[in-house]
Amino acid sequence: MISIQRRRLHIFFICAPLLLCLFASAPAPRQAVAQETTPTETPANVDGVVEIPTPVIEVIATAAPEESPPTPAPAVDTSDAPVHVVQIGETLETIAALHGTDVRVLAKLNRLTRSDLLLTGQKLLLPQGDSEPMRLHRVEVGDTLTGIAAQYGVVLSKLQRANTLACADCLVIGQWLRIPTVGPSSALPEPFASVHISPPLPTQGDVIVVSVTTHSALQSLVGTLAGRPLTFVQKGDAYLALTGVDALQNPGVYTVTMRAITNDGLPGTIRGRLQIGAGAYGYENLTISAKLEPLLAIDINEEERAALDGIFMRNFTGAQYWNGTLQQPIPGKIISYYGTRRTFNGGMLKTYHSGIDMPARQGVAISAAAAGKVVAAQNFPIRGNVVIIDHGRSFFTVYCHLSKFAVQPGDFVDAGDVIGFTGATGRVLGPHLHFETAVGGVTIDPLPLLEAEIP
Ligand SMILES: [Zn+2]
Repeated sequence: MISIQRRRLHIFFICAPLLLCLFASAPAPRQAVAQETTPTETPANVDGVVEIPTPVIEVIATAAPEESPPTPAPAVDTSDAPVHVVQIGETLETIAALHGTDVRVLAKLNRLTRSDLLLTGQKLLLPQGDSEPMRLHRVEVGDTLTGIAAQYGVVLSKLQRANTLACADCLVIGQWLRIPTVGPSSALPEPFASVHISPPLPTQGDVIVVSVTTHSALQSLVGTLAGRPLTFVQKGDAYLALTGVDALQNPGVYTVTMRAITNDGLPGTIRGRLQIGAGAYGYENLTISAKLEPLLAIDINEEERAALDGIFMRNFTGAQYWNGTLQQPIPGKIISYYGTRRTFNGGMLKTYHSGIDMPARQGVAISAAAAGKVVAAQNFPIRGNVVIIDHGRSFFTVYCHLSKFAVQPGDFVDAGDVIGFTGATGRVLGPHLHFETAVGGVTIDPLPLLEAEIP
């Protein structure tokens, strides 16, 4: 029997034709490990002899939580009706006030009974035609939209929307403008001006970017999302925090909180709910021999996971070294994707692949996926020789199984700089590159980061 639930295990599973090898051990709570597989694309020759060793894939996985997923609250479907997209911190009352409608009407229209049923990103239907009658203003010589907005004390964008004006300077003398009912400019508590969570409906493996703007400068801003701390850095006018969704995070509804203190010492708190969905991943069951089962419970993996987490936590910096999308560290196709579900021996252990794998011969130059500071170039039992680059704002890339290092801790690298060479160190049977990415201490899917930049 294997008893490894709630333990992080690393298993390297290598499955070539006629060959299977699986390594595992147990790291930090709630994470499991890795396995290695080789693609089956290399056929045996006519003599039944495999000519070329197939590339090796390894899977570093995390033990599945035991709890069953909570039932996600239904989001309100919308058509073409006017809608309001709920932000963290908004309530039915503040949204109703913002749109000049009655809270009971809004609640009934959206089949809601309480504000605490709201979800971030949820689209609320807005009542049509029952708000207070709008005042009218006839445009005169010298009028500007900004001036009219100030005259009536309404927000410029609201005035523009109410009159479907494509531009702010296209007024025509004599034109009648509808002046919307004066209401609050935001449905958020002070000092928050806006709070955006992107994506609004994240799924497993996603990066989550929390972006906050405020009406006044802050001396502090802290928060949590799904129990993980949000660490904000200031970028322009916004405060940004990065976090991620673990590939085995239970789909369901999670709490987001934020607490700001202005330079004047005034506190403001936001609390809301965020729905996290399931990622779309492949699945397979792997059957391992009794001889290999002990490898699923080794403490080596716990220690390795803890060591990696320690490196991520120790090296948080508010600086941002990276710019743009990630570059693939070595050329070639991806032979194993992040998040692929695997069970062992009929479901005794649920695991997932924590990175992407690219096949390579021994000694292929590996380039930094983005600019950053090298914070580790060392050996780990499972991942072998590993280089970890800190890109700032809690964003890290991890390069595993190297044969040789070309950098050392403290080095700054640019995207494309050679940081080491492919190898087969660690628990693998053949050379390849296992590439991981992490934000906020959470291992996330590297693939989208090769295509789109983290804000
Ligand atoms: Zn891998």
